[in-house]
Amino acid sequence: RAGDAPGDPAPELVDGVDAAAYRPGAPKPVRAAFVVLVRNSDLHGMKQAMRQIEDRFNSRFNYPYVFLNDVDFTDEFKAGTAAMTRANVTYGTIPREHWSYPPWINQTYAGECRQRMHQQGVFYALSESYRHMCRFNSGFFFRHPLLDDLDYYWRIEPDVQYSCDIDYDPFLFMHRRGIKYGYTIALHEYPETIPTLWPAVRDFLAQHPGFVRHPAGLGWLSRDGGATYNGCHFWSNFEIGALSFFRSDEYRAYFEHLDRAGGFFYERWGDAPVHSIAAALLLQKHEVHWFEDIGYYHNPWLNCPQDPAAQARCHCDPAKSAVHHYWASCTHEWPSLPPANVTGNVTSA
Ligand code: GDP
Ligand code: MN
Repeated sequence: RAGDAPGDPAPELVDGVDAAAYRPGAPKPVRAAFVVLVRNSDLHGMKQAMRQIEDRFNSRFNYPYVFLNDVDFTDEFKAGTAAMTRANVTYGTIPREHWSYPPWINQTYAGECRQRMHQQGVFYALSESYRHMCRFNSGFFFRHPLLDDLDYYWRIEPDVQYSCDIDYDPFLFMHRRGIKYGYTIALHEYPETIPTLWPAVRDFLAQHPGFVRHPAGLGWLSRDGGATYNGCHFWSNFEIGALSFFRSDEYRAYFEHLDRAGGFFYERWGDAPVHSIAAALLLQKHEVHWFEDIGYYHNPWLNCPQDPAAQARCHCDPAKSAVHHYWASCTHEWPSLPPANVTGNVTSA
């Protein structure tokens, strides 16, 4: 491609857009930002993740960062993260009602449930904050006022690694193609964390049959026609999404139903299966995109492009990519779904 030879200037057009337009503070072609829920104690891991995002992508694109926290950010956290980028940074505190027990939750029973899950060896079984985090990411992040002016978000976490140059604008890529949800890795959930999630979803679907707009997506979630959930979920520590999807009446009603069912506290429902079930059922195949080309690592899974031509812009080992592991088979099962038309009828492949 152009721009590879020494002395050959980098192409001025990035996915058809003038890269010079991406100056800090200049209007962006799409309203988008990195959105990060993070603790003050994650400062160094956050700086590491930002350094890679900046070097691989954002030093040329200058998308802002929105940091969210259940407690106030320290001056040290703000100064440390702001020093990593030329882009705008904003810091928000989460409203209490988005990070606390709703009144219908029996907190004594929730405590007993945590002990039982601990005895079963479930990760984070005893943690209350982990459950508030999962519930916030499931139903509230998109309502934070700092996201009001945004149409797309890119979720990042401390300690993640971005191992390939990203030479185009994924937000613009999604916007142009009508993609609402982008992922890098899809896994199977631990069943012990979500024993009653699927029954709660089925209750909701019985009340709202129109929610299944994509029958092939139901096939991605269930091998037995919807009787049981196979655990397939987009791993949500990486997400690039359209906020309109989460802000929709359908998604809010779905979250409200799940929240009332209590599984965020009585079990340990993750935001990954919650987002994924909605995306698979509400969105068409082409509205969900596997960013196979984005090298990404969050312990313990890696997405590394398999194309030999991609290795020149990456530092990951393609042999270690999650796609070679059965636990990540959901990753390429989504792109292999049969095509479906917008009315949701599955056409034979
Ligand atoms: P894991 O990826 O499932 O192991 O969970 P993490 O510990 O990485 O948490 C997911 C994200 O939520 C990370 O960005 C964390 O920094 C953030 N997070 C987790 N717990 C809390 C919390 O209690 N407060 C805040 N502010 N952020 C949290
Ligand atoms: Mn994490």
